[in-house]
Amino acid sequence: MTMSTDARLDAFMARLVERNPGEPEFHQAVHEVAQSVMPYIEAHPAYGKANILERLTEPDRAILFRVTWQDDDGNVRVNKAYRVQFNNAIGPYKGGLRFHPSVNLSVLKFLGFEQIFKNSLTGLPMGGAKGGSDFDPKGKSDGEVMRFCHAMMSELWRHIGKDTDVPAGDIGVGGREIGYLFGQYKRLQNEWGGTMTGKAIAYGGSLIRPEATGYGTVYFVQEMLRRQGGTLEGKTALVSGAGNVALYTIEKLLHLGAKPLTASDSSGYIYDPDGINEDKLAWLAELKTVRRGRVKEYAEEFGCEYHAGKRPWGVKADLAFPSATQNEIDEVAATKLVKNGVLAVGEGANMPTSREGADVFQAAKILYGPSKAANAGGVAVSGLEQSQNAVRLSWPREEVDERLKTIMSNIHAKCVEFGCEDDHVDYVKGANIAGFVKIADAVMSYGVM
Ligand code: NDP
Repeated sequence: MTMSTDARLDAFMARLVERNPGEPEFHQAVHEVAQSVMPYIEAHPAYGKANILERLTEPDRAILFRVTWQDDDGNVRVNKAYRVQFNNAIGPYKGGLRFHPSVNLSVLKFLGFEQIFKNSLTGLPMGGAKGGSDFDPKGKSDGEVMRFCHAMMSELWRHIGKDTDVPAGDIGVGGREIGYLFGQYKRLQNEWGGTMTGKAIAYGGSLIRPEATGYGTVYFVQEMLRRQGGTLEGKTALVSGAGNVALYTIEKLLHLGAKPLTASDSSGYIYDPDGINEDKLAWLAELKTVRRGRVKEYAEEFGCEYHAGKRPWGVKADLAFPSATQNEIDEVAATKLVKNGVLAVGEGANMPTSREGADVFQAAKILYGPSKAANAGGVAVSGLEQSQNAVRLSWPREEVDERLKTIMSNIHAKCVEFGCEDDHVDYVKGANIAGFVKIADAVMSYGVM
């Protein structure tokens, strides 16, 4: 008797959970990919014979180290830091660094695993990795952040390199942190190479890199709507977060005629029924990136609603852009969105929808753009930053934006190619299989290793 696909999936997941106990985020990310690719592997037995899925779910290596630094009062402080180098079959490891108290091995393995498929989808030669620390930059002085970054790079530098592993930013790691990290790397390595992306323009960054994840997510949703004959013009949109991804998502929505209604941080969300316009967005960006304040102050400044400790998914709107963190849309939130008639969801954050929430979107057959496809614009422009560094050139803004649009459109087309069922596109399936095929073929080319 041959096993059914469901039984194979259950057996595979049981082995994975046994090998990786206590890592729920990692289990969740693997389950989503395995569910999509298992039937494909059954139809293409060479992948099964080579045990590709099992090989892809074990990182090449995971480095764990101590970061010791001194706070402004002279106290010696200790944090854990990590770099998970997951897979470099198609190019040097590539993926961000996250600084947040919730960072642990499970979170970084989920992000590193996702990154393999996302980077594959961009069509650029980049492997998958992720790293970070449980260090919390919130409430720390510039001097403390600098000392932490320098201390962290004093160990990380020996594991990375422009042809080995190229980190970038993520939650808690923006332009300021990249500057401190790259400066220390350059000093220790005595080499100016493109070993980090997200750099400022003054020292080798790419135009459009800060905007790329948010812009790319909006371009992806635009493609999904366009395929059905729709546009962004006049659509209302919910955005969560008020960081890098959220701010540039709001900006591009405004450029394309949509009306963003919400923004949030870990304390709560604001709902502005008149819409966050260009002036209000500039005020919010200054609040979050310069003054490092809370979104609550937006409600006080512009006299709109603030909901402490809540997320924006109960507000009625046409589109939703979760852009804060993982699992911020659960089953209840997804059900509310669907009930309120949401047309499309573009995941700017990584895995912002729980498994149960994703099932609700899939069952309702809304346009559901999963993170590894929808937010791939950020890493794509990081790849373009590496290319510009390699040829010692800086491309104009319009050129980078055009390339970003083309990459997002190509990713959309790949999702349609592998995810089209009758007239409905299962973008989760499409993204997972399209990402998988390229990686699996590369891994198999190398033989057994
Ligand atoms: P930022 O640190 O710039 O902003 C994160 C935002 O999300 C902040 O508003 C933060 O609020 C909020 N947030 C963070 N953690 C939580 C939480 N546990 N609950 C509620 N809100 C939270 O990060 P980015 O904008 O760079 O990243 C956001 C998401 O996008 C992440 O999932 C990241 O992995 C993903 N991403 C980012 C890319 C990039 O290029 N930066 C590329 C691809 C994906 P507060 O200020 O209160 O902490």
